[in-house]
Amino acid sequence: MPATVLDGTKIAHEIRSEVAAEVRAMAAAGVRPGLAVVLVGHNPASEIYVRGKVKACEEIGVYSETHTHLDTVTTDDLLALIDDLNRRDPINGILVQLPLPPQVDAKKVLMAVDPAKDVDGFHPVNVGFLSTQRPGLVPCTPAGVIEILKRSNIPIAGQEAVVVGRSDIVGKPVAMLLLNANATVTVCHSKTRDLPEVCRRADILVAAIGRAGMITRDFVKPGATVIDVGMNKVTDPAEFARLFVSGLARNAKRQETFQAKGSTLVGDVHPEVAEIAGAITPVPGGVGPLTIAMLMFNTVKAAKLERQWLVASG
Ligand code: NAP
Repeated sequence: MPATVLDGTKIAHEIRSEVAAEVRAMAAAGVRPGLAVVLVGHNPASEIYVRGKVKACEEIGVYSETHTHLDTVTTDDLLALIDDLNRRDPINGILVQLPLPPQVDAKKVLMAVDPAKDVDGFHPVNVGFLSTQRPGLVPCTPAGVIEILKRSNIPIAGQEAVVVGRSDIVGKPVAMLLLNANATVTVCHSKTRDLPEVCRRADILVAAIGRAGMITRDFVKPGATVIDVGMNKVTDPAEFARLFVSGLARNAKRQETFQAKGSTLVGDVHPEVAEIAGAITPVPGGVGPLTIAMLMFNTVKAAKLERQWLVASG
């Protein structure tokens, strides 16, 4: 039986509606959460992501401002901007769109963001809060993975979870969130021995690798839940054929689009996995839409946490 498709677009919509309701309630109390987005240069993908984030703010009622810089910007310029944003009351969240140009010390810039406004959840203070289960800001995509599981009623506690990928922005925080939710977690990477065998232990398999269709059916225990975080642009017709021409993976609509556009977005999980998994997230329309929804959630959370912290500190 083909896997249940976990509809990330629908779940993201639910979260956005809930966040919008909170924003309306805050507005009634005279509070409007605000997000500042820092965009450097003219990276087309970054520009699209930033437009999506600003549009989400507008739809939900969050105040937003975008600070654009030429790609000749220096680390000091960005540090000065972050310092200003850290001090400004209407701004509860600061998001520095990555990548930054090579002359900029990206780690220094991210470290300068006030942890209370770090809506990406990348600051070591928030990483520490996550690993010690204290309230803080959790990275958006990993938080989205957990929302998909919880809202799809997929049990986590006591389950074997395998995460492939150990990046600071996806793999590690996903693993920590699964552990905090009482899964038994294994984290794999490029040096893991016999990866398919380790993955086959998983009741919940999370792929965050960055390699189109790498997770084939040999990696998956029948009935497992498979969460595909990967976002890979495929342009090579032979690669497209490897992914989409046979079995359930055969996809006439995608083939049409590929021929028209010359590219398609695919995950790290081969589409054939839908033949044996119990539940699976599609790409596109799976984890992707959750990232902006959780950014909105984090911006509102930052506004609420700030007020609690202000109360706590008198
Ligand atoms: P990353 O920093 O490049 O990390 C990739 C991880 O995969 C690394 O830990 C690497 O292992 C591991 N890996 C690479 N090749 C492997 C192999 N052959 N076998 C086992 N492990 C392997 O990537 P990332 O930033 O975490 O992103 C991962 C994917 O998620 C990308 O496709 C990215 O576009 C996507 N993504 C999606 C969203 C979203 O909104 N949906 C958000 C963020 C990222 P080593 O550590 O040993 O090198």
